[in-house]
Amino acid sequence: MDLLLDQDLWEFQSHIARWVDERLVPQADALDRAGEFPRELFGELGKLGYYGILYPEQYGGSALEKPYLHYTVLCEELARGSMGFAAIVGMHASAATHTIFAWGSESLRQRYLVPAIRGEMVGAFALTEPNAGSDAAAIRTRALKVEGGWRLNGSKIFTSNGTIADFITVAATTDPQKKARGIGLFLVDAKTPGFRASRRLEKFTTHCSDTAELMLDEVFVPDECRLGAEEGSVLSAYKALTIDRIFTAALAIGTGRAAYDAALKYAKEREQFGQPIAKFQAVQFKLVDMLAQLEQARLYTYHAASLADRGQPITIEAALSKIIAADGCNQICQKALNIFGGYGLMNEFPVQRYLRDSYFPMIGGGTSDIMRLIVARQLGL
Ligand SMILES: Cc1cc2nc3c(=O)[nH]c(=O)nc-3n(C[C@H](O)[C@H](O)[C@H](O)COP(=O)(O)OP(=O)(O)OC[C@H]3O[C@@H](n4cnc5c(N)ncnc54)[C@H](O)[C@@H]3O)c2cc1C
Repeated sequence: MDLLLDQDLWEFQSHIARWVDERLVPQADALDRAGEFPRELFGELGKLGYYGILYPEQYGGSALEKPYLHYTVLCEELARGSMGFAAIVGMHASAATHTIFAWGSESLRQRYLVPAIRGEMVGAFALTEPNAGSDAAAIRTRALKVEGGWRLNGSKIFTSNGTIADFITVAATTDPQKKARGIGLFLVDAKTPGFRASRRLEKFTTHCSDTAELMLDEVFVPDECRLGAEEGSVLSAYKALTIDRIFTAALAIGTGRAAYDAALKYAKEREQFGQPIAKFQAVQFKLVDMLAQLEQARLYTYHAASLADRGQPITIEAALSKIIAADGCNQICQKALNIFGGYGLMNEFPVQRYLRDSYFPMIGGGTSDIMRLIVARQLGL
């Protein structure tokens, strides 16, 4: 048994690992080539109850004692099959639904959270704008108070699940003078007049995960859909996003594991100079370094998730786990590609997909250097 996981978590991991091996791994290359949202697989995982890990039973959730460790296992296992699919789920069943659970009215929870947990609706979270990435407080999407609600105008970029989402939590400023304190969260139904996903962005990485540009033109949002307190709700959202850094680290670990397993197998099978390339010390050293990075990333990330489950502060640990896992797994994937030689560059082997996908955790949810800034601030530097 894995020492990081107790009996419950181990059983949970065995179940999701079986689904990944039977359903996701065989389709992962085709999903990457098609670059389309895998609606059938998404619905299937919802029916199995995996989108309710972070939520109570009354909304169809699992009411788990250690929800963050379970979610970390889920992210790792899914990304072992397909980081693109794992990114869809990671956003949907955490940040995109958490805002409704934490700050939505009971009627919003029934209308959006419950079907989302069943996998019948897809959620997104839109903060980033063309001119406001790392500097999220600089967003320009404006929310103006009108009778009975708010009117939103602006645009968003890089929104995961953007073109397929049924509902989107949109960050908008109610008062640009107040910078971060003036930013509020608004739940926008994708059918609202004036809202549209204007572009599905073609990208280098995580092909089956949808990444979109959104336009909001005089979008009316009723008062009920303003999520959170009048002031500073986005600050609470930032806190909620902290846990997602651990989940993003788990995505990196899943893909790193897939790359390591593939390289180990290939090194034992591929023969050159009359022997398997695994017999060459240069190849052995690469594999051992990959394993060292993987184990380090897993240990630290599960440590951070376990702290979160115990209600401990995780600002430093979440940022460090993202740095260690995202940067480390990108290096693992580079070494895996090297071990595959020319075949590593061929699309018929998934190792090139692993390497492309391994760049996503280094940027999505905040770049590795922004994680370093967060830790430096916590250290009083
Ligand atoms: C595939 C994908 C999916 C995404 N999904 C979502 C989503 O669903 N919702 C959402 O809101 N956003 C999403 N994002 C956006 C993501 O969070 C941003 O891309 C990320 O925060 C970086 O912002 P940026 O791309 O504008 O880069 P920039 O902020 O322009 O950064 C460019 C470079 O400058 C560096 N830099 C910037 N500021 C500093 C500083 N103060 N000190 C040191 N270095 C600095 C960065 O580290 C980076 O190397 C997604 C991005 C990608 C690529």
